[in-house]
Amino acid sequence: MLRFRNLASGSTGNATVVEAQQPHSLRPTRLLVDCGLGIRQLQTRLAAAGLAIDDIDGIFITHEHSDHIGCVEKLVHRYDKPVWMSAGTRSALPRLDFGQAWCEARDNQPVTLGDIRFTPFTVPHDAREPLQLSCTDGVHKLGIATDLGMPTPHVMQHLQQCHALIIESNHDPALLAASSYPYFLQRRISGSHGHLANAVAAEMVAALMHDALALVVGAHLSQQNNRPDIARQHLEQAVAGLAHAPGVVVADPVSGTAWHDVTPLHASLAA
Ligand SMILES: [Zn+2]
Ligand SMILES: [Zn+2]
Repeated sequence: MLRFRNLASGSTGNATVVEAQQPHSLRPTRLLVDCGLGIRQLQTRLAAAGLAIDDIDGIFITHEHSDHIGCVEKLVHRYDKPVWMSAGTRSALPRLDFGQAWCEARDNQPVTLGDIRFTPFTVPHDAREPLQLSCTDGVHKLGIATDLGMPTPHVMQHLQQCHALIIESNHDPALLAASSYPYFLQRRISGSHGHLANAVAAEMVAALMHDALALVVGAHLSQQNNRPDIARQHLEQAVAGLAHAPGVVVADPVSGTAWHDVTPLHASLAA
């Protein structure tokens, strides 16, 4: 069993719980991917998901930007959680003390944590050594890719054959161009090491389509330079007309998503 719930998504904070359980296990393993929230907010949103911080077994930090870091140091010290991040991300956070809790995450090196196995991969983003990841219970596969400026062949290879995808659909170029953001910031966001435009996210989904892809989640939407209906429309157009089209969901910046099982499309149809 593999499932996930996004707790927050976007520049005001990102966090996703990924849960895996093998048939023989007494309890599931839960990985928190990013924790860009204050500790109280994290507790509140975990509670809405039926969880507490004690239910989290480990943390994966994708990169050092503040919307992904939040309360990670408190989680490590107060709750004794192991935290994975790249050596570059670790070195970009020199003031944070992780003690013995830091585990180095490396591109293309799978990590087994209880019943979950995750594989980090390098993405182009304006951070020191950013990683995104895929997660599996050995049968089902979830791909997560936010905070990337473009889909490199390396990224696309790691996102092959997913049953669910959480993919950045950050901005609408026309809204970004018309925004009050200074020109340098607009260039940074839309550049090859910035964030994905809706149309690029849709192109990625179209290129990653296969019969068993059951769910696509648009994530990390800009609250200034995007609208949920525009992001959704692009993703829906990418899968329109397919005999086996995946469901499309857009993560809310504050409330995230509901729990979603990661299952092949045909299995979910049969259920
Ligand atoms: Zn971000
Ligand atoms: Zn970022």
